[in-house]
Amino acid sequence: MGGMKILSRRRVRELQWFGLVLSIVTCWNVAPRTSELSRGHSPEPVSVNKPPGKLVALTFDDGPKPYVLMGRKSQKGVSSPSLLDLLDREGVKATFFVMGFRLADTANDFCRQIDVGINCRQAAEEEHRRGHEIENHTYGHGTFSKMAKRYGEDWILNDIDRASRIIQSLTGVRPRYIRPPDWDISETLRKEIEARGYHVMTKSKGDVSEAPALEDVDSQDYIYAKLRSPQSAAKTEHDYVLQRIDQRERKGICTHILVFHELPISVEVLSTLIPELKQRGYRFELLEDYMKSLAAAPK
Ligand SMILES: [Zn+2]
Repeated sequence: MGGMKILSRRRVRELQWFGLVLSIVTCWNVAPRTSELSRGHSPEPVSVNKPPGKLVALTFDDGPKPYVLMGRKSQKGVSSPSLLDLLDREGVKATFFVMGFRLADTANDFCRQIDVGINCRQAAEEEHRRGHEIENHTYGHGTFSKMAKRYGEDWILNDIDRASRIIQSLTGVRPRYIRPPDWDISETLRKEIEARGYHVMTKSKGDVSEAPALEDVDSQDYIYAKLRSPQSAAKTEHDYVLQRIDQRERKGICTHILVFHELPISVEVLSTLIPELKQRGYRFELLEDYMKSLAAAPK
């Protein structure tokens, strides 16, 4: 019995090593060459059959929140480092899934409550000006299952269109990606939204398996933000996200869509996480470019 136990432990260790080596080999082979790290100097378009390399699409939900984006104190006294300045310093472009109602003129009073400086629409204009992408997180942020029961599915489709219109009035471009609030969506509704030309972001498609590279990796920052000690909460959130990435790498997955919210804790976490991921050979792309890189990869 004892011998078997030792043997099985050794076997487990061997398998763990094998997994680690496999992940290093798979992720190592597709790591970008140094010349590819600075995209600005690479005039060539994404070529067909080129491995995507180690890629992260960094995304943020629930904004725009001026005090987080610009780094100020909110009127409620909560202060945050600037997310947009951090991204600039790191040369990272990100994708923001905004709530449409925050871009409306009528939201000004609401936005001034969370920041005495600029309003939400101006903060979104700043996101756009600095080269980030703005995508659709619906207009009113109503959970689809609840809204469907209360108002019907057409109401949800209208809410999405309403958000697209107001985002387009700011960026000049119709959003192509939708993240349903709380990832709550039925299969029929997903198909209807996709039929309108949108890509629906998902954690899991349930019975229909989604390619791991297209699955949202949830940082769960909204949970860590509620922990009592902000210092240890940031460390715990940081370790949790890295753990998720490690787990995916062990399966040979080197492309990740990371989901954060516009929260002060996430700015803190990302100030160390972004350089760490860069050191591991990751490069950051807008969601649109990330999707193009995946599409160009060998099947
Ligand atoms: Zn949300």
